[in-house]
Amino acid sequence: METDQTSPKDADSVPPPETIVVHDHRVACDGGGGALGHPKVFYEIGEEGFVECLYCDRRFVLAHD
Ligand SMILES: [Zn+2]
Repeated sequence: METDQTSPKDADSVPPPETIVVHDHRVACDGGGGALGHPKVFYEIGEEGFVECLYCDRRFVLAHD
């Protein structure tokens, strides 16, 4: 017999994409490695001031110095 457990709700919900502030217009992303990772890719932040990873939707924002 199994006990009726309430499963945590956030196990099903998709976490919001991370915003990562960087100080270089060239960034690399591998999704953080592990199960959520992806092949390492490089992006170049243009005049928009940010770039979004096509794999994991992380947003890299160039810091204003
Ligand atoms: Zn990524």
